[in-house]
Amino acid sequence: MTNQSYIINAKKIYSLDSDNHSYQSMLIKNGRIKELSNLPLPYNIEQISHPDKYIIPGFIDSHTHILGTGMQKIFPEVSGIESLEQLFDIIAAASYLARQYKFLLIYNFQPDKIKEKRYPTQNELDTVIKDYPVLLYRIDGHSGVLNTKGLEEIIAADNKVLENGAELDPYQEPTGVMRGKAYEFTARHFNKKIHPEIRLQAFIKACQLAIQAGVTTLVTMLGTEVDNITCELLLENQVKLPIDVIPFYQTRDINRIQKLGLPRIGGCILVDGSYGSHTAALTEPYADKPDNKGILYLSDQTLEEFYRAADANNLQTAVHAIGDRAIEQVVRVFEKFLKDNQKRHRIEHCELLSDNLIKRIADLGLIACVQPAFEHYWGGSDKMYAERLGLRWQNTNPFQKMIEKGIIIAGGSDAPITPINPLLGIRTATDMRNSENSISLWHALRMFTYNGAYAVKMENQIGSLQLGLKADFVILEHDPLQTANNKIRQAYKEGTLLLNNI
Ligand SMILES: [Zn+2]
Ligand SMILES: [Zn+2]
Repeated sequence: MTNQSYIINAKKIYSLDSDNHSYQSMLIKNGRIKELSNLPLPYNIEQISHPDKYIIPGFIDSHTHILGTGMQKIFPEVSGIESLEQLFDIIAAASYLARQYKFLLIYNFQPDKIKEKRYPTQNELDTVIKDYPVLLYRIDGHSGVLNTKGLEEIIAADNKVLENGAELDPYQEPTGVMRGKAYEFTARHFNKKIHPEIRLQAFIKACQLAIQAGVTTLVTMLGTEVDNITCELLLENQVKLPIDVIPFYQTRDINRIQKLGLPRIGGCILVDGSYGSHTAALTEPYADKPDNKGILYLSDQTLEEFYRAADANNLQTAVHAIGDRAIEQVVRVFEKFLKDNQKRHRIEHCELLSDNLIKRIADLGLIACVQPAFEHYWGGSDKMYAERLGLRWQNTNPFQKMIEKGIIIAGGSDAPITPINPLLGIRTATDMRNSENSISLWHALRMFTYNGAYAVKMENQIGSLQLGLKADFVILEHDPLQTANNKIRQAYKEGTLLLNNI
């Protein structure tokens, strides 16, 4: 924060407040917005002028995993590879990291994108690195592959793991591929290996990526039932980070949240899984696995106990629900007791919706935190959603219908699943493969600004440019209400310039 005062002028300053005010001049003092005007402000202080550029609030990415995002800048990620051979080359080149840290993580593997169309086997991984445990994550973060050293470690930690989602070959031997609960256990086990110093380094790297994308507030999902260090580490170090990082602690333990004094609980608490791994819970079976309808991880009773306790303790909740059967479970449970949504409970992802579900979510007043970039990567008639869902690809992320019914939708990236890049999300949301789902630029911008603030009860601090709010803003090359193809020229956090591409 800077305690100096200055005036910034632009062709247009869009507040993105609910009345769609716009200005040409803004006075910043002590990191806050002190005055907004359509006439030149007459004070004899520093004036910064961008007469051909546009200003909007700094973006809010409402759903990220900053640990994983930053870790991918420390360990390799392989989303661009085209063959297993390339994968093995990258792993071999990263073997110094395995020696340094005594384990190796590889991110963003996409079996459908490589010519072999499959995971490597445990034995293939062994030929590259066998002395240290290796975990190769699938891009959706819902399955992964271990080398033998890794699998041995997991089995030693929990000998039941093989019955809970470890893939077996025809001879009943594990292949190294882990899904469902076995995968979750594996991911947690490897997560524990990451030293706090590495974690903090990862947080900072995630913030740097965010700033490049014009994001001045990150909402992040951290911790688990058994990881009680990551969220705590963030809370201790929040002030060291260059932008606001607002945590959702992914636990159902209300006491733990209250001790930390947090106003919210949850995150990617899995009600179901993902399409990629055939674990998102569907009402009708998968198009490419007719005997499979995905997985519901929690019973109605467990979910209801969690929601009731959180709501009674004045905590906002968030859970992960992607398939229509999972979303219906969340809605069904809330319908039992929720009178209004003052606590602003959220559904993360909230992707596959029927008209009936949209209406019920709207009636409950639940907030949907959506990821439009998922549609960019996997939506449409020719990509993964169509493969998994058949014609139902048309009903994923029906943003326009959701908005028409009055659902508040906040935009996120789910980074590292997709990059922190609100402009990509905005572009996608305004140009959906099923054009009926496309929304206006105004609504798309609001998803990543005002609605993001609303979705963490911070609309009186951030998310729009209004008097008294934080001077978090970005300078854009083009009029954001005219085109989705834009460039971020500068980003300011509480009045301080963090990014300068002018
Ligand atoms: Zn999730
Ligand atoms: Zn997530």
